[in-house]
Order: sequence, then C-alpha cells, then structure tokens
Amino acid sequence: METGISEIEKAFTTLLNKDPAIFLDYDGTLVPIQPDADAATAERELLDLLHILDTRYTLWIVTGRTLDSITGFIGTGFNIIGLHGLAMRTKDGIVTISPMLERYRPIFMRFMEDEHDILERFPGVVIKDKGGAISFSLWGMEEPDIQGLEDFLRKYAEDLELDFYPGKRIYELRIPGINKGKAIREIRDQRPALIIGDDITDEDAFSLNKDAITVKVGAGDTEAGFRIQDYLSVRELLKAIASQKPETS
Ligand SMILES: [Mg+2]
Repeated sequence: METGISEIEKAFTTLLNKDPAIFLDYDGTLVPIQPDADAATAERELLDLLHILDTRYTLWIVTGRTLDSITGFIGTGFNIIGLHGLAMRTKDGIVTISPMLERYRPIFMRFMEDEHDILERFPGVVIKDKGGAISFSLWGMEEPDIQGLEDFLRKYAEDLELDFYPGKRIYELRIPGINKGKAIREIRDQRPALIIGDDITDEDAFSLNKDAITVKVGAGDTEAGFRIQDYLSVRELLKAIASQKPETS
C-alpha cells in the first residue's frame, strides 16, 4: 500500500479526463471523531472546500448518519448517501429510502423497548435509534462492560439476522446486506472514483470498489490502496484535487 498525499494526487490525475466521482465519509474523514456525535460540526472552511469540489466533480458524502443528522451539519447542497446506503438525498432534493427500512423497523423498535434493561446491564453505554440501525456509543463505558455488550449484541444480531458492526468506540446493529460499498458501487456504475473513509464501515466501500482509488484515513487494517494520516491530510488532499480542475459551472 502506498501512503502520502502526493501519491494519491498523482493517481487521481489519471482520472481527470474521465469524469471521476468522489465519495467522502464524514466523521473521522472530514471532521474529527467526537465523543458526542451531535458535536461533529462542519466549519465554514470545510463547507467552502466541499462546495468547490462539488462544482468541479460529482461529489457524494457517504455516512452512517441519518439524512437529518448529516444535513444538520453540511446543509442540503450536497449529494448524500445516509444510513450506510438505506437513504439517499441528491442536492436537487430527491430523496430515496430503501424498502428494507420498513421491513426492519419493527425489529429495531422492539429492541428499543428493552433499552432500560440494557442501560442497566451495561453502564455508560449510550443507545441511539438511528432509524435504519441502532448505535451504541462506548465512550462512557468500562472495558469489561464493552466486552459484555459486544457478546450480547453479537448473539442478538445472530438470532434476529441483523448485522453487527464494531466501529471506532461505537457498535451498531444494522439491516443485513446494506453497506456503503454496495451503495457507492450502484451510484458510480463503473465510473472512475475516489473513495475516502476512516472506519470499518468504509472497508465495505473499499473492498466492493477495488477499481477505484481508495484511501484509508488513519491506522488499522484496510483493504484500501492508499493511506493518509488524519482528517487534516484529507482536507489537504481535497484542496490539491480541487485545484487540478478549473471550475466548470
Ligand atoms: Mg467515519
């Protein structure tokens, strides 16, 4: 695997006249990961950069967040894949929701009925019903309780045929077969692409889009072809990429 901004920039140059699409994760990729997910705001400088990229390339923000949550940070001016592919919103305002959501809602709602018991059993966990998934923030938890919670959720997921995802200080129960990789692959439809992400959910995006330029942010095992250090290096890379092409619209 290659590392470094200039290598990725060089690789991207080869796509320039092929109308490439850019897929960017949000938390941990464009902004630092926050213990409080509601605090992951996008500042003016980042939004300006994204708007420039959006005028020059086809840009998608790809996140596990709900559409409401992500538009709360970046507004409605961007193409968005939300809930890891269950929900989409184009910058023209066209919203698409997967029928899988309706099918799995009752399971998630049943789970949330037991929220109190789970909070008691695993002190410090913060549980959120995200619509298409249930997330468990681990920031306030002690190590033995985290292990206990993981065992519990893995078993629960197995029994109800849900997907269990271990992320960065977060676990999720998810609708099976829905992931960023599939969503990106369908949208790009073989078009050349740059895909950047930092977490385990982005590994689906990398492994299902092997022909794209894939970039892992930060440390850890990855299927990506490139690696860069942190969200600041991502911004540096995006600035360089933005300046590779003059404004078209
Ligand atoms: Mg992320």
